[in-house]
Amino acid sequence: MQRVGIGHDTHRLVEGRSLILGGAAIPFDRGLAGHSDADVVMHAVADAVLGASGLGDIGEHFPDTDPAWQGISGETLLARVMDLARLGNWRVVNADVIIHAQAPKLLEYKPTIRANLARGLGLNLIEVNVKAKTGEHVGPIGRGEAIAAEAVVLLETADRR
Ligand code: MG
Repeated sequence: MQRVGIGHDTHRLVEGRSLILGGAAIPFDRGLAGHSDADVVMHAVADAVLGASGLGDIGEHFPDTDPAWQGISGETLLARVMDLARLGNWRVVNADVIIHAQAPKLLEYKPTIRANLARGLGLNLIEVNVKAKTGEHVGPIGRGEAIAAEAVVLLETADRR
């Protein structure tokens, strides 16, 4: 059996924060605001995994009102979500991700983001795709007020027969 899941996340860009996207620390004059490390890429991918496995969303599993999740890294969050998916006997088939950011340019960081996602999802590089889009200077992303990410993940039951 196979199931597909979708994920989305948006965080505001603010001064005084590090920019972490897909587990990669990216040099920039601002970072994403949030209770955690605000890694929109990991959050979108984790939500897609939860969606495909029918397990809700990361807000239910890791509420931002719970101090236990203060500062939790996106990579740790994805690892915990993968543990939940594996309990349901799911494995990941592939993932496709879009990062929407007017700046910085993400081209040189995409291989690191891809590798981090592949490791987190238990996939080979070829099974993970990362796209970067600007906001064409319009809307909150185009004005550099926020960065967003979208993800689609396909799961299959590990014990196919
Ligand atoms: Mg988030």
